[in-house]
Amino acid sequence: MVKKRKTERETDWDAPLETTSSVSLDSSVVDYTTETVPKKLIKYWHQRHRLWSRFNEGIRMDYEGWFSVTPERVATHIAQRCQSNIVIDAFCGVGGNAIQFAFVCERVIAIDIDPVRLACAKHNAEIYGVADRIDFILGNFMQLAPRLHGDVVFLSPPWGGPEYLAEKTYDIQSMIPMDGNVLFHLARTITPNIAYFLPRNTSMDQLAMLAGPSGVCEVEQAHMRGKTKCIMAYYGELVDMSSDPGPEEGTLPS
Ligand code: ADP
Repeated sequence: MVKKRKTERETDWDAPLETTSSVSLDSSVVDYTTETVPKKLIKYWHQRHRLWSRFNEGIRMDYEGWFSVTPERVATHIAQRCQSNIVIDAFCGVGGNAIQFAFVCERVIAIDIDPVRLACAKHNAEIYGVADRIDFILGNFMQLAPRLHGDVVFLSPPWGGPEYLAEKTYDIQSMIPMDGNVLFHLARTITPNIAYFLPRNTSMDQLAMLAGPSGVCEVEQAHMRGKTKCIMAYYGELVDMSSDPGPEEGTLPS
């Protein structure tokens, strides 16, 4: 767990922030049934209870949200690793991670640039009974970052579409639309404690480089039904030093 230290609860906002309150969800785009689910989503529809244990209580997701949401067991695990006072979920989507953070952290700042997805996240957090622990912020993390305070930043950025698996190695610099190096260093201005959620074929060299010459990075793979689905890279105090970090600091086993 990240050491609990006194952190300002409030974020320094110079300007009023847009929240989800003004967005009403059109149920035709966020509620699917076995009859109405689009063909391309059927594979995900079959996994709906793996994505959300409380799916049947009225979980809402827009079309893109179905592709991006983190399965609940993975989100629960990440939240355990990121326990802290204030966690910032920089790309919260429909809320899969933010909700699990809310169960184990004092406060969650959940940001998304898309008003429909952010409204889904708020709705879904209400179903899980944790909406009151989450500040939902509509905006661009790249612009908001200089005004944020937090103990941990969770980065689950756009991966740049399904082409990410076509390449042997996923290059965070060129394939993450806002440049994964720039994004990481921006998050580092908030806190050294960063969790980065990335495709399974991400370059390990790039992840090690982000830690800097004297830093350490820990990488976890999430396996589901025998396949590696994604990886999580941890930095700062999120690195579990009880596991052997390897012979040389800042490097990863090949
Ligand atoms: P993927 O499907 O590759 O995981 P998405 O394009 O769905 O990625 O993006 C992940 C989430 O991040 C989406 O909910 C999207 O609205 C949000 N998002 C994208 N860019 C930004 C940004 N600059 N700031 C905050 N949220 C963003």
